[in-house]
Amino acid sequence: MKYLILIGVVFGVIWWIKLSRPAKPSGSAGGTDNGPQPMVRCAHCGLHLPQNEAIASNSAVYCSDAHRDLAEPRA
Ligand SMILES: [Zn+2]
Repeated sequence: MKYLILIGVVFGVIWWIKLSRPAKPSGSAGGTDNGPQPMVRCAHCGLHLPQNEAIASNSAVYCSDAHRDLAEPRA
């Protein structure tokens, strides 16, 4: 009986930690987004980055404005 209470307390603590700390990669830059972001690939250099940090263009995505301008020079 003692162990059942102990197991219940342990699971309760784990559940409480999960509730109070939603899944968030530690050490990364904080943001307002929740959960994992789909990864996209820069059409110029091939760098993979989260979709919310990518620069979207006509039909491709880039890691930065500089790479977008390099790949798609404006006339
Ligand atoms: Zn790039």
